[in-house]
Amino acid sequence: MAIFTKRRLAVGALLLFAAGGLSLSGAWTTTGARAKGARLERMQASPQWRDGRFRNALARHDGPYMKMMKEWFFGGSPDAEPSTALSVQGRSKADFDAPPQSGLRITWLGHSTFLVEIDGHNILVDPVWGERTSPLTWVGPKRFYDPPLPMDALPRVDAVVISHDHYDHLDYPSIIALSAKGVPFYVPLGIGAHLEFWGVPADRIHEHDWWQESLLGDLTLAAVPARHFSGRSMVMADQDQTLWAGWVLKTEAHRVFYSGDTAMFPGFEEIGQRHGPFDVALIETGAYDPLWADVHLGPEQALVAAQMVGAKLYMPVHWGCFNLALHSWTEPIERVVAAAPRMGVPIAVPRPGESVEPSNPPQVARWWPETRWTPAGEKLVMSSGLSEELAARVRRAHEVADVHAGGLDAVVPVAAAE
Ligand SMILES: [Zn+2]
Ligand SMILES: [Zn+2]
Repeated sequence: MAIFTKRRLAVGALLLFAAGGLSLSGAWTTTGARAKGARLERMQASPQWRDGRFRNALARHDGPYMKMMKEWFFGGSPDAEPSTALSVQGRSKADFDAPPQSGLRITWLGHSTFLVEIDGHNILVDPVWGERTSPLTWVGPKRFYDPPLPMDALPRVDAVVISHDHYDHLDYPSIIALSAKGVPFYVPLGIGAHLEFWGVPADRIHEHDWWQESLLGDLTLAAVPARHFSGRSMVMADQDQTLWAGWVLKTEAHRVFYSGDTAMFPGFEEIGQRHGPFDVALIETGAYDPLWADVHLGPEQALVAAQMVGAKLYMPVHWGCFNLALHSWTEPIERVVAAAPRMGVPIAVPRPGESVEPSNPPQVARWWPETRWTPAGEKLVMSSGLSEELAARVRRAHEVADVHAGGLDAVVPVAAAE
């Protein structure tokens, strides 16, 4: 049945007010700035820049626009947002006083925000403390829970890493707060224009093309390819004017891969060959749909990607914090949990705020409630343009994962796990 939810009303309002919103100084500021001068010249010299914008190696094909609009406004799961308060693990600064035993600890702060403590370096990835993923403070997707760790309770941050300029990854109030701490920012090409416009000193901005690396002491930060898009303007005036990327963080002892936002593409193999194998891969798994399968992976393709890069442990991110798609809010994790053991991929599913040492991950326990969701067999999410071999692999992942309940025997109720 068609449901005109509060979310869709909010999205409608957002679109209606988009043009007007641009004239509001707040929205004008958060939208950011376009690159010019030497920065633009460097972008235009990138192999990724063709005919006035950044491009994916594999072209992006979306579903029919009218169908997308119809689904967006009248379709979608009635369980796209939690109906009760979530069980989040609140954290404090003292929690990070003792370094990780193994040297590597990931703390998931919700969606794609996480702290990586790696052999003495503290790296904050895609920091989003803002209430909404929107240029406006009063409308747009709102977070399901407060940040598990307050911004002023963060331990020392040595660097901030950004994957792309979408609002759920590049959050204006978080950048302002972190800039005040004096940290350096590692970002894909073009995003420096936003940061400088917001007052980040130019010498603290490190802009990377795909495959470019920086050194921070003995830590390598490498931008790697992704298949996605970019833009912050509500009237789409800046589509693909900044680059999108995944990131590798590695020392002699540990290797971490973060996918950023991405669809499936063969480049995952090359990422694995050049930088893998990884102690942990944080790969996006939410906000997918068959209508936009060339911008997000979905759960089964995320697991295939984890295998392609050579992940010893897969940790799903980009789910369970903002309502950005049509699926039920727990569907991404239910499908990961159904598919992972059948594909032989070890997973960690921390609750928001929880820390994971990849060498000794916690048992997967159900901290999220049981809601209605659509299993893999009823909704194939497969990116376009894949080789026959890769497409067959993605199809197989859907087939083995086509179970609706009891996906993972190891998923015990939280009460039993504690
Ligand atoms: Zn995105
Ligand atoms: Zn995103």
